[in-house]
Amino acid sequence: MTTTRERISGLLGAMLGLDTPRRAPKAAPGQFSAVPEYDVTDRAPVDMKNVTHPDGRMSSYPPTDQWEDWVEYDGKHWPKKVARRYTLVPTICFNCESGCGLLAYVDKQTFEVRKFEGNPAHPGSRGRNCAKGPATHNQTYDPERILHPLKRVGARGEGKWKRVSWEEALTDIAGKMRESRARRRDGIMYHVGRPGEDHYANRIISAWGVDGHNSHTNICSAGARCGYFMWSAGDRPSPDHAKAEVILLISSHLETGHYFNPHAQRIIEAKMNGAKIVTFDPRLSNTAAKSDVWLPTWPGSESVVLLAIANHLIQNDLYDKAFMERWVNWRTFLAEAGPTIEASDLSKEDKAAALAALPQAGEAGTFDQFDQALKALYKGYTFARAAADSQVPEDRIREAADYVAAAGNKVAAHTWRSASIGNRGGWQVARCLFFINVLTGSVGTEGGTSLNSWNKFVPQPYKKPPAFDAWNTLHLPHEWPFAFYEMSFLLPHFLHEGRGEVDVYFTRVYNPMWINPDGFMWLEALKDEEKMKFHVALTPTWNESAWFADYILPMGHAGERHDLMSQETHSGMWVGFRQPVRRVAMERAGIPITHTHEANPGEVWEENEFWVALTDRMDPDGSLGVRQYVESPHRPGELITQDEYWAWIFEHSVPGLPEAAAAEGLSALAYMRKYGCFEVKSSNYLPYEAEVVRPEGAVETQDLRLLDAEGARVGTLIDGVARRGFGTPSGRLEFFSTTLRDWGWPELEHVLPWSLRSHVHPEEIAAAGGEMLLLPNFRLPTLIHTRSANCKWLYEISHSNPVWMHPEDAEKAGVQTGDLLRVETEIGWFVDKVWVTEGIKPGILAMSHHLGRWRLQDDAGVNPGMSALAQLGTDENGGRSLHIIEGGKAWKTADPDTSRIWWQDVGVHQNLTHGVQPDPISGAHCWLQRVMSVRKAGPNEQHGDVHVDIAKSVEVYRKWHALTRSAVEHSPDGTRRPYWLKRPLKPIRDAYLLPDKPFYRGD
Ligand code: SF4
Repeated sequence: MTTTRERISGLLGAMLGLDTPRRAPKAAPGQFSAVPEYDVTDRAPVDMKNVTHPDGRMSSYPPTDQWEDWVEYDGKHWPKKVARRYTLVPTICFNCESGCGLLAYVDKQTFEVRKFEGNPAHPGSRGRNCAKGPATHNQTYDPERILHPLKRVGARGEGKWKRVSWEEALTDIAGKMRESRARRRDGIMYHVGRPGEDHYANRIISAWGVDGHNSHTNICSAGARCGYFMWSAGDRPSPDHAKAEVILLISSHLETGHYFNPHAQRIIEAKMNGAKIVTFDPRLSNTAAKSDVWLPTWPGSESVVLLAIANHLIQNDLYDKAFMERWVNWRTFLAEAGPTIEASDLSKEDKAAALAALPQAGEAGTFDQFDQALKALYKGYTFARAAADSQVPEDRIREAADYVAAAGNKVAAHTWRSASIGNRGGWQVARCLFFINVLTGSVGTEGGTSLNSWNKFVPQPYKKPPAFDAWNTLHLPHEWPFAFYEMSFLLPHFLHEGRGEVDVYFTRVYNPMWINPDGFMWLEALKDEEKMKFHVALTPTWNESAWFADYILPMGHAGERHDLMSQETHSGMWVGFRQPVRRVAMERAGIPITHTHEANPGEVWEENEFWVALTDRMDPDGSLGVRQYVESPHRPGELITQDEYWAWIFEHSVPGLPEAAAAEGLSALAYMRKYGCFEVKSSNYLPYEAEVVRPEGAVETQDLRLLDAEGARVGTLIDGVARRGFGTPSGRLEFFSTTLRDWGWPELEHVLPWSLRSHVHPEEIAAAGGEMLLLPNFRLPTLIHTRSANCKWLYEISHSNPVWMHPEDAEKAGVQTGDLLRVETEIGWFVDKVWVTEGIKPGILAMSHHLGRWRLQDDAGVNPGMSALAQLGTDENGGRSLHIIEGGKAWKTADPDTSRIWWQDVGVHQNLTHGVQPDPISGAHCWLQRVMSVRKAGPNEQHGDVHVDIAKSVEVYRKWHALTRSAVEHSPDGTRRPYWLKRPLKPIRDAYLLPDKPFYRGD
């Protein structure tokens, strides 16, 4: 008998068109439909009001003991109560590098994924996600996703493809790799965009024995990495936000910053506990809006403001002298900084005072002398100077400094992209920010800032390939010995100059032509079959660069592959396990699966099985010595399976995991399949203070290091006790960098935390002549580089990137919100709509990246609702253009939502008009662009149109190249790069030797 409530529900459901769904047939493994179907059940769901966490909180998450058989009502059928039965499979989000946990709700009957929600057992994300996590569902059921291997059959870029078998693709690609590997060790290049995993691909590249790793780091985080590394040998900060008293952010961290959701939730936690948030950003981001102090600094002035705060601490004796005395290399400074100070631009008075503080020759020097030197050195960084440089009121900077001074050693600080990647010298922004941590003693403390390597856990696999004997100069040329890391965005210029060619080029979840600056140079490179001989695009979705590939191989999304991930989301250590969720669900149901593609949609392979199969075909008889790394540790000569690979790691390489699993009667692999993560350490403070055991034959050095018999540092001596210390040459935090000094950058502004003049310093911008500055290095929070174009929910939220313009500037240009604006950079121009807002500083234009997608054919390429139909052109003077024929539009597929697209503006591809601007030290692309002119668009200039002069691209490249100081002239030991600097994959030491004929030096 139906109740009144059920009758009303039924009536409402009928009015809304929500009939009770039919019982769906069981899906065959591998079957794919953009419109998945789900089963119904008569079982009643758990009453969530009665579910509590072990710590007593009420929970909105399913309890872990019921994950394998979970029933709940389907929200889509509300107000009808349609119950569904799921098996919940944990996995890891792939839509940024935070590695948040997801729980896939896999229908127990059809094995379709109903939704992705947060995994409450995950120590980093703690059940929470940003909008991009649940949108994994859109990516999975994207009606336009690539489901089979495709091979080019016309000219490159002509858009003619044929579907081929995996066997054909693997044999062809492996053959070309084998041929290249037989001739050289630098002909295969794996260019990764979103890594999303911690070791598997790198291990495979190492197994090939080539210098093949290339990344997007130079357009992302090179500046910040360089700044942190020169201090500490750690290339990222790991702030303990939740316990901080002051949080210093040089980014829009709460909305889009690195480790976005895990950090954002902890920042808010700290704020609720009374912490103060100080944000540097010329744009009123959501983070700035949530801050106690917003400092809308002129780009490039951040280090001056940070040093004014530092100076306040130094002059007023508010800094942690005990910490600095213990851990900073001040003795080296006192002994060796004399010539640096002598040659500096310090005022006569400050220079004399700094020199007077140094000990006489032969004297050891005291910390008091260092204190005096610090006071003399930084005296010039006054609040007044910082206010003038940053165009921020002095009182506001003072307020920030007072908060920092009052926070003790609980200052959590972070910068990643933002100013560090925006400006020439941006690496010094990171170095100056960490200087605040060092001065306050907030290094590795509770509420302070740790290093990534202390909180990130990367387990070791069963067989490690040796270091390779090769150096690919297309990755790390001699001009940038400090680059973090490969100079990847300059690859087209290097090819254009004739530095080399690439035999086999893999792009992996990467769209280099679209995401890098100077995209038309990339277009030339990708079309050039003599220099870029063979291009394989590993991608789950269409992208602009894949259009110019020779093969497109479909790869899995977050719920379709195995990976390990760990990130330094807080003080603690965890490891997360990404899983192919349909495969796991089927295996739970007793369906045997040998390879993940048997359970994935279409013929989508998981990458790991692809690497195994490819490596096997590259070296079928093992004669190259490569195949051994993809063979089973248990079945000699047989290829390894995913179960074997992960089981070995979980049993041998994750401390505490086998025991935790055994306590539940599970194997380590079964435990990880069940929970998707494991907490290795719940907190990890002051690891550098840990005492180390003195090895046999250990030697103490005069500069207070403990070396083993081979001469490697094993500890740092503090008051006679050997402690772990830091991975720098001195074993301490390097306030004074002897490495920079010895490698050609001896000036004070390089060897000490100092401010460097940005390429967009106000004196570099002829404002009176109409010049402005373009800030392109922020993104709207729902964007995933080029993969948001396959997420209908995300694109509905944000699909356009208008130019932010202050009302004063808009008035000068005579434009209002919605008008078309023509923005001219050093190499070209684009046309976009304007958004007049006080949320941006006068003199600056801001524009979100990750938008402005295009396709060259109406019926192929990026989804029509998320991209514009465009035409590429070349004019009589060699100029290149992108002309928009038609904006985004609705289109018909099996998914009814695609016919409901209501927007046309899908943004403008601004990166095409950015010249390459490599920082001479960090190698980072300095994203901020000088705008030569801004005016209302003319009648023939349409929204989205872009024009670029390639000759100017080359000119800009050469101008920045001229700033470098090559290892050829400056290396102190005949090598290409200081050995202690990190590389994603390090070759053998001999490979570091400079070649006989370096490029531009007679090669
Ligand atoms: S913060 Fe990153 S990893 Fe976490 S849910 Fe969002 S996109 Fe996914």
